[in-house]
Amino acid sequence: MDLSKLSAILQTEPKFRFKQAYQALYVDLITDWAQASVLPLALRERLNQECPLSIAAEVNLDTDRTNSEKALITFEDQVSVETVLMRHRDGRHTVCLSSQAGCPLGCTFCATGAGGFFRNLEADEIVQQFFFWARRLRAEGRGEKIDNVVFMGMGEPFLNYEQFIKAVKILNDPEKFNLGSRRISVSTAGIIEGIKKLAAEKLQINLAISLHAAVDSLRQQLMPIAKKYPLDSLLKAVDAYIRKTGRRVMFEYIMIKNINDGEDDAEALIEIMKRPLCLVNLIPYNPTGKFQASSPARIDAFREKLEAGGLAVTQRFSQGQGISAACGQLAGKTRRK
Ligand code: SF4
Repeated sequence: MDLSKLSAILQTEPKFRFKQAYQALYVDLITDWAQASVLPLALRERLNQECPLSIAAEVNLDTDRTNSEKALITFEDQVSVETVLMRHRDGRHTVCLSSQAGCPLGCTFCATGAGGFFRNLEADEIVQQFFFWARRLRAEGRGEKIDNVVFMGMGEPFLNYEQFIKAVKILNDPEKFNLGSRRISVSTAGIIEGIKKLAAEKLQINLAISLHAAVDSLRQQLMPIAKKYPLDSLLKAVDAYIRKTGRRVMFEYIMIKNINDGEDDAEALIEIMKRPLCLVNLIPYNPTGKFQASSPARIDAFREKLEAGGLAVTQRFSQGQGISAACGQLAGKTRRK
């Protein structure tokens, strides 16, 4: 799929062609310009030549019977990224998007990080992942659509800020996908410059911070980028974001056996998380080789301790775990074919 020349081609046409083409592309979800019968034949042929709509993808159905699907999407230069569709029991659908092919941050618990970094994705390549799932749901013919988008796939979105935010604006654009900004969430490993930039955007998207440890020494072991952005500065940036936007911030905490799931860890977390509009989300760890997952009993005890300490806590169930769709843990299959 390549939409890079679309605007330039439509500029040479009467103005209303933009509207018609966008309707066909983003609403009707055509997979070939020949299906856009409202456009003149010559234009359809040109668009098919210069703006092909096919997406190269391999789909993996869930292996844990939780109705999640993962797709490996391959771009022009043969670099691939993973994206996930989660089908929730209540009928909603969440799509997890990658913002980079691989990731340069090398978090020690993350398969994507272990696989290295290839390149940043263009906004169109990020959006292509959304197109893929939207078309898939459309083809199933049950009138279902994507309700939420999370930037929690491969890569650190704030290290590719311009393309990430461009993709968000395409998803949010009323003439394109028209997905409400409150339905879009981004998760960062704590890139402070990105948090500041997001606070200045006129978009009400949700911010999540990958925390995973409540003291610098452990956080730096798990997430080398934490050496550059220690907790104190990170939390100050989050406080400033909350003051400016009035929006709640989610702190993601992956539960790793005997690493960050003890009583001391819970106490340290209570200490730093007692701040307005902060919510902790406990995530069962999807083992990628080096560490093991905390037991459900340990997670429950950890959660109870946090709640007793006055924190707002949610617990994400491990939907998609069998296909490695937990946060920041896509299976690291970014590759150049
Ligand atoms: S957890 Fe996220 S930021 Fe860390 S290496 Fe994995 S993809 Fe990158």
